[in-house]
Amino acid sequence: MGKSSKDKRDTYYRLAKESAYRARSAYKLLQLDSAFSLFPRSSTDDHFNVLDLCAAPGSWSQVLSRTLPSTSRILALDLQPMTPIPNVTCLQADITHPSTLPLVTTFFSSSPVHLVLCDGAPDVTGLHDLDEYVQSSLLLAALNLAVCVLQPGGTFVAKIFRGRDITVLYAQLRCLFDRVTCAKPMSSRASSIEAFVVCEGYNPPPGFRPSLEKPLTVNWRPETAEEVGVAEIVRFVAAGELSEGDSEATVRGARSGLEPVQAPTAPPYRRAVEMRRREGGMKEVEIR
Ligand code: SAM
Repeated sequence: MGKSSKDKRDTYYRLAKESAYRARSAYKLLQLDSAFSLFPRSSTDDHFNVLDLCAAPGSWSQVLSRTLPSTSRILALDLQPMTPIPNVTCLQADITHPSTLPLVTTFFSSSPVHLVLCDGAPDVTGLHDLDEYVQSSLLLAALNLAVCVLQPGGTFVAKIFRGRDITVLYAQLRCLFDRVTCAKPMSSRASSIEAFVVCEGYNPPPGFRPSLEKPLTVNWRPETAEEVGVAEIVRFVAAGELSEGDSEATVRGARSGLEPVQAPTAPPYRRAVEMRRREGGMKEVEIR
C-alpha cells in the first residue's frame, strides 16, 4: 500500500491499516466470502484446509488466520518471503515450477484441501496482451496445483484479467467445477480489469487424472468433449454490500499516510535506495 496522495485517502487503504491488515486486498477476500460463503459457517467444520497461492505480503492469509479454526491447515506460498502469520505455514516457492507440487502435497499429506486461492499477479507492464498472457499462465499454474490437491466439492478462487479470450477459460473451468462465477469485489478498483473466478464444486470429468507431467494447458479439453468455449455464459457478481465503500471512495480530509502494518521483507527497491544513500549515486554496494 503506497503513500501517494490518492492512497492516503483511499477508504480500503485506511480500513486495512486500522484493522492491521498488510494490504487492502484483505477486503477483496472478505467480500468474496460474504458473497460465496467460502469459509465454513458452523463450528463443526473444524478442519478446513486452505492453500493460499501468491500470498505475499499476506493479507489473505491474515484473513484465513483470523477466520478459520486453529485446527485448520493453511499453507501460503509466494516468490517473496513472508513475515510469519499465526497458524499459517509460509513457504517461498514459484507456483509455476514443478518442484512446488511436492511441497504442497507433503504439507497437506493425506488431509483434504477444501479451498485453493490464487491472488497472483505478475509485474504489470502496461502492455495489455502481455499482462493478460502472463496472468493467464499464473492462473493455469494455480489451477494445475489446485486439481492435484482439491477434494471433490472443493472451491478454487483466482484472480483473472478479463481479456478477449476469457470465455475459453470459463468453459474449461466449467468442465472441472459445477459452478463458475466471475466476481468483482467492491474493493477491487473499478478502473482495473481485475476480477476473480469463483469455481465451486470441484467435480472433474470421469477418467480425469491430474498430473504435472500432462498439465492442463490453454488448449485443454476433456477427452469426452468435442468443443470447449463456444457459449459459456458465466454469472457476474459484484461482491460486497452497497453500504461498504466502493473501490474509488476516499476519506475526506485524510492528509497524511499511515505507517505500514508490516515492513516489506525483501523490497525490490532496497538496493537502489542503499546505493543512493551511501554513494550519492548508483554505484553498487553490498547489502547485509
Ligand atoms: N493476496 C496477497 C495479499 O493479500 O497480501 C497479495 C498478492 S500480490 C497482489 C501478488 C503476488 O503474486 C506477489 O506477492 C508476487 O510475488 C506473487 N507471484 C507472482 N508470480 C508468482 C509465482 N510465479 N509464484 C509465486 N508467487 C508469485
